[in-house]
Amino acid sequence: MFQKILIANRGEIALRVLRACKELGIQTVVVHSTADSDAMHVRLADESVCIGPPPSRESYLNIHQIVAACEITGADAVHPGYGFLSENAKFADILAAHNITFIGPSGDHIRIMGDKIEAKRTAKRLGIPVVPGSDGAISDEKEAKRVAAEIGYPVIIKASAGGGGRGMKVARTEADLEVALQTAKSEAGAAFGDDAVYIEKYLEKPRHIELQVFGDGAGRGVHFGERDCSLQRRHQKVWEEANSPALNAEERARIGGICAKAIADLGYSGAGTIEFLYENGEFYFIEMNTRLQVEHPVTEAITGIDLVHEQIRVASGGGLSVRQEDIKFNGHAIECRINAEDPRTFTPSPGTITHFHTPGGLGIRVDSGVYSGYRIPPYYDSLIGKLIVHGRNRVECMMRLRRALDEFVVDGIKTTLPLFRDLVGNPDIANGDYDIHWLEKYLANED
Ligand code: ADP
Repeated sequence: MFQKILIANRGEIALRVLRACKELGIQTVVVHSTADSDAMHVRLADESVCIGPPPSRESYLNIHQIVAACEITGADAVHPGYGFLSENAKFADILAAHNITFIGPSGDHIRIMGDKIEAKRTAKRLGIPVVPGSDGAISDEKEAKRVAAEIGYPVIIKASAGGGGRGMKVARTEADLEVALQTAKSEAGAAFGDDAVYIEKYLEKPRHIELQVFGDGAGRGVHFGERDCSLQRRHQKVWEEANSPALNAEERARIGGICAKAIADLGYSGAGTIEFLYENGEFYFIEMNTRLQVEHPVTEAITGIDLVHEQIRVASGGGLSVRQEDIKFNGHAIECRINAEDPRTFTPSPGTITHFHTPGGLGIRVDSGVYSGYRIPPYYDSLIGKLIVHGRNRVECMMRLRRALDEFVVDGIKTTLPLFRDLVGNPDIANGDYDIHWLEKYLANED
């Protein structure tokens, strides 16, 4: 087991990882920018190292500084959290070259899945169902038209280097295709420095369902069931559930089995998430994330397994603590992402939190690094906390969620809490009857 883990992140996820380390009796080091000197994870860690000024590029993304912090403190492993360097293959390689363990998969697996075209090819080879579309990058309009005619309109053009919902354009007819192709290419080039794009069938009313998987790096793979993340705004997840209201146990076992086998065949090590769109009873792979997800707590709530403990065990060579048959799904869990944003326009609302009170009681978990008097720096993403509620079934979970939202107090800034208070009372949400476009339509009708 590791002696000392360096946590290369900030906010609620840094605290989340720190808690797991403490439980396992592992010493912790956190790195932070000058804007985060008073952050909770810095206060609670055994050691902290300031690695630079506020902009992420000069601190949380500064590989050189992070490796230096490992050497100074003698950390033998790094947990990257999510975002920042968590899916940076070069970072994983550099740590390996310094004999520091990256708590995550190999640089090669990160590289394959980071390139969406390569990821889709690999998924197909491993027997995972994919969205019909082009085999690789689209070189010109002629090829785009040929592929689109083959799979049928509407189609979506997506950036191979994509992430965060950027660089995607829908074409409903052949007449839209030229503009969609050009805009997707230029957006991708500007955002990712790589303008390779591919085409796939645009699904009209899918749900976003993702499978939590784990590999032990030695040919064993398991799945921890699915999460339904269909409630999205601008392709960003807002509310997540486990299990999905749309799946039954047979469907779960079927797609879970396919994913676990793929992970085993790939020789994958650590946590991963295989994301699908789900429509008319069919799964269509869209991408794989090679890291812990923001929404992992809903899976922890229904399985009772600490996924960060598992990540650390696997990375240290101790293997998985569970076999597939040990993983049971109990009840229902929902997570609400609480952002420091206007609940209607979603514009960021940084500032000082004058009062912060979290709900409590059975089945309630709040993962947050903020506190009363905390000043939210304007440099980073606006997630200030996650409310995770567990109940014996979905109805109990929703009742408990409504109560927890009433108790939650965040004063001094705007947050997305009022949106969740509306959603929890909505009949479609109560029935679990929503797809990936539901929230955008709901918000548009509110105006
Ligand atoms: P990113 O890496 O940018 O998040 P994804 O490929 O994961 O991109 O897609 C993000 C979201 O975009 C999906 O959850 C879904 O809402 C939408 N999307 C992606 N591909 C399609 C498709 N083929 N049809 C319909 N919607 C899609």
